[in-house]
Amino acid sequence: MTDTFYEVLRRQGITRRSFLKFCSLTATSLGLGSAFAPKIAHALETKPRTPVIWLHGLECTCCSESFIRSAHPLTKDVVLSMLSLDYDDTLMAAAGHQAEAILEEVKRKYKGNYILAVEGNPPLNEDGMFCIQSGRPFIEKLKETAADCKAIISWGSCASWGCVQAAKPNPTRATPVHKVIFDKPIIKVPGCPPIAEVMTAVVTYMLTFDKLPELDRQGRPKMFYGQRIHDKCYRRPHFDAGQFVEEWDDDQARMGYCLYKMGCKGPTTYNACSTVRWNDGVSFPIQSGHGCIGCSEDGFWDKGSFYDRVTDIKQFGVEANADKVGGTAAAVVGASVAAHAAVTALARARQKTGIDTPKGED
Ligand code: SF4
Ligand code: SF4
Repeated sequence: MTDTFYEVLRRQGITRRSFLKFCSLTATSLGLGSAFAPKIAHALETKPRTPVIWLHGLECTCCSESFIRSAHPLTKDVVLSMLSLDYDDTLMAAAGHQAEAILEEVKRKYKGNYILAVEGNPPLNEDGMFCIQSGRPFIEKLKETAADCKAIISWGSCASWGCVQAAKPNPTRATPVHKVIFDKPIIKVPGCPPIAEVMTAVVTYMLTFDKLPELDRQGRPKMFYGQRIHDKCYRRPHFDAGQFVEEWDDDQARMGYCLYKMGCKGPTTYNACSTVRWNDGVSFPIQSGHGCIGCSEDGFWDKGSFYDRVTDIKQFGVEANADKVGGTAAAVVGASVAAHAAVTALARARQKTGIDTPKGED
């Protein structure tokens, strides 16, 4: 009989207290609320463990680096135990023929029941010769392993979009996973790399609930890619006020003004960096003084310099570029202040005259 997740965790030395804490952390990071923690605990206690096969194509391994550095040690321990990484040619102890034998065994034993996580992508030119694993093109290994999987996770911008190895003229024809596998559910978790907590939360959700989380039109989990960096950026008030850094070492940079004019792609990038942040929530690139380069967006590598401004953002509905934002923002703020003052004066006058303030007007 196959072990449950919980049995595997206990065997790895994880206490029940730690296990329950992990369930609470996971429920919170998934935005499900603490009421979901017991449901996660119950699912992990009763469900048989789902094996995960993790393949690596053309890539730099930054997704694995991010994943194994998941800031919370408990999360890292639990998720790594939960995954058990039945096959991961980068992290597993086995190598060569032994590793390939394990892959074949997992595929056979768990046919139709394993999750395939893919980091990197297959190059298709020259019959796939630009990425050879165990003596054959990676594309073959990918297709064979995908054939019997339950679902696919495309880790990072390489597997999701192609990333820098697909930059024009893309000599190896590096190709994202969804353009070579068409008959399996695929969840994209883009970023270069994706945030560790996002990766662990996504994989925990899939293992716990045995389904994909809700996805957007591009196949990304809405819970982490539903908002732009710009929507939750702590420098946003400076953007709205028209206060921009103009040079890397100017006074505005020292005062933490908006980095839009320095090329920040936050207004067109969907990711959780400005909310989840990096390194246990310590910081994220914009907080460290550099604009977002849009690493989780399709084609970011071919869209010109990281320091060119995004020219077509529509804020306040009218201005065409950041140079006009200041004036527009000032006008909006001015109008709001005037409106607020008028409403307040009206309310005071009503109080004096004994007229009730209609609901919602104060
Ligand atoms: S442009 Fe960049 S720095 Fe400015 S508010 Fe938006 S995300 Fe933040
Ligand atoms: S801030 Fe932008 S460039 Fe940096 S990791 Fe997040 S999405 Fe990628």
